[in-house]
Amino acid sequence: MIIDAHTHAFHPAQVRRRNDLCASDATFREMYGDPGAKMVTTDEIVAEMDRAGIDAAVVAGFAFGRDCDLRAQNVHILEAAQEHEGRVIPFATLDLSSPAWRDIAMEALAAGARGFGELRPHNQGWDPLGQEAHELCNLAAERGLVLLWHVSEPVGHTYPGKHGGITPAELCELATAHQETKMIAAHLGGGLPFYVQMPEVRSALRNVWFDTAAAPLLYDDESIARLTGLVGANRVLFGSDFPLLSPKRHLERLRAQLESDEAAAVCGGTAHILFSDRRPS
Ligand SMILES: [Zn+2]
Repeated sequence: MIIDAHTHAFHPAQVRRRNDLCASDATFREMYGDPGAKMVTTDEIVAEMDRAGIDAAVVAGFAFGRDCDLRAQNVHILEAAQEHEGRVIPFATLDLSSPAWRDIAMEALAAGARGFGELRPHNQGWDPLGQEAHELCNLAAERGLVLLWHVSEPVGHTYPGKHGGITPAELCELATAHQETKMIAAHLGGGLPFYVQMPEVRSALRNVWFDTAAAPLLYDDESIARLTGLVGANRVLFGSDFPLLSPKRHLERLRAQLESDEAAAVCGGTAHILFSDRRPS
């Protein structure tokens, strides 16, 4: 079972209206203002999964600043999950600074969302340690949902979209307060795995998984082997960040640095267990 735990899709109309979105949304402009930054629909993700031999993928959205854009994107991803039963694991995106976020979350849950993300609180202007964030964590724990957070490394080179997610320290504090809430810390958790060597942090982060999204652009060729050494292969999820990177090449890179049993866990076994927790909504 091969599962890509981190891909992004847009509604077809959003792909066509790219220039309008650049004008209305500063974070979108930062990440997609360059015409070379690819945008894809769910159909293109499924076609890429077929090419790469991937069974299922988490399809997440983009953290738009306007509710109408979030809703359109969520509807597209949730409809695709029904169309491609079992292959698309749909995540909906939320903006907790919007008074409508609870309604948008409930609409997405009713339509089958399995999680929320990729969450970028600082881009959208909400506090990842604020009251709404705690409410979201409680909701996720109650419903068996997974929260996918954009976590970036606080050091090193900069790139479009690097900042604006949640910091490793904020995520550690939030996860410590919500140990029943399942969370994915994207992009190797921005370095948070190093601190899992502290016993109290290891214990508090027992429901946090770390994905490999964009790793080939950030870290060296042994980074995932070191990550599994720190947190265990049962806490690491292969994520490509497609269409940013090719899942096929990313998988080859992972397999080259891991033992076969570890590779099997990272490339899908761990995600399969994580997403098999289905509760009636
Ligand atoms: Zn991200």
